Amino acid sequence: MSFNLESLIRPNIRAMKPYSSARDEFQGEAQVMLDANENSLGSAGPAQFNRYPDPQQRAVKAELAQLKGVGADQIFLGNGSDEAIDLLVRLTCTPGGDDSILLLPPTYGMYEVAANLNDVRIECLPLTADFQLSPEIVADVLASPAKLVFLCSPNNPTGNLLHAAAIEEILHGFPGLVVVDEAYADFAGAPSWTTRLAEFPNLVVLQTFSKAWGLAGLRLGMAFASPAIIGYLNKIKPPYNISEGTQQHALGALAAAPHFESLRQQLLTGRDWLAGRLPALPIVAQVFPSDANFLLVRFHPDATAVYDYLLGRGIVVRNRTTQPGCAGTLRLTVGSPAENERLLAALREFEAS
Ligand SMILES: *Cc1c(COP(=O)(O)O)cnc(C)c1O
Repeated sequence: MSFNLESLIRPNIRAMKPYSSARDEFQGEAQVMLDANENSLGSAGPAQFNRYPDPQQRAVKAELAQLKGVGADQIFLGNGSDEAIDLLVRLTCTPGGDDSILLLPPTYGMYEVAANLNDVRIECLPLTADFQLSPEIVADVLASPAKLVFLCSPNNPTGNLLHAAAIEEILHGFPGLVVVDEAYADFAGAPSWTTRLAEFPNLVVLQTFSKAWGLAGLRLGMAFASPAIIGYLNKIKPPYNISEGTQQHALGALAAAPHFESLRQQLLTGRDWLAGRLPALPIVAQVFPSDANFLLVRFHPDATAVYDYLLGRGIVVRNRTTQPGCAGTLRLTVGSPAENERLLAALREFEAS
């Protein structure tokens, strides 16, 4: 494979000059800051946010670099990983043209939305019936003209890790960017692909604070890649995409590693608890193995009736019955122990009704 990053970047993005913010141009500790049209008097409301935040998020990236064992210049931070997904599509694909992205359904819905929003074509290669990459699928990926392939591992909504050997083959042979979305990596028994960044110049790994860190409301996502790819993402991002409040809160979370680990362990325990009990219910046809904080479960005879019954009991789960290969399935997020008990009790009552 010959990987040439420059040839993947849209020509207008290669040529453009990025916005240079006041905080980019002056980074020292000044006594009088009259360069950015901020309000020097302070902020309305209970906290002080009158200064623009660091556009490069240096403090957060320094901590993350330690935690993940990568360079700070290999980290991009987005307003959720959804921002990174959108920017990756925009970086490589010219709207309304022949450029395409490659998806392996069933998978996370935002890839398709980002492509549609940007008027970019989508090519689909469905996963196998057990939601895996096969040698045939890998061969088709390698033959694809797409600029970008999204591999979600552990996959949403199915919960399984994709075979590492197949991902490695794709990384070796696919000439476009290979995005491995690891939103659920903290729940998986496999090393992150961030440990392989040095080997693959076309690898982009996505992670997020929304799941194991318990910070979905904060909106903070991460992309890890070569400094060259990260440089392009920084070039096209909105200058102040991560707020001061988010940066401060993320530093607090990163300093609370034991709490993170405790949350993670409790969710893994909850997953095992549900996975151990669901198969005994007569309406449950199949519980798919999960490396994530949710379980994909096939119900019979009518998953949507189960979904509606749960809704009536005030329990909302995700109906995945219309997704490719997911007929009859609901996606159940692992909750608190009390929520897991309520879910199981409601499913038992549905059987009795
Ligand atoms: C939840 C999820 C994300 C996270 O998105 P954020 O914008 O960071 O909240 C990304 N990818 C997948 C596959 C997900 O399921």
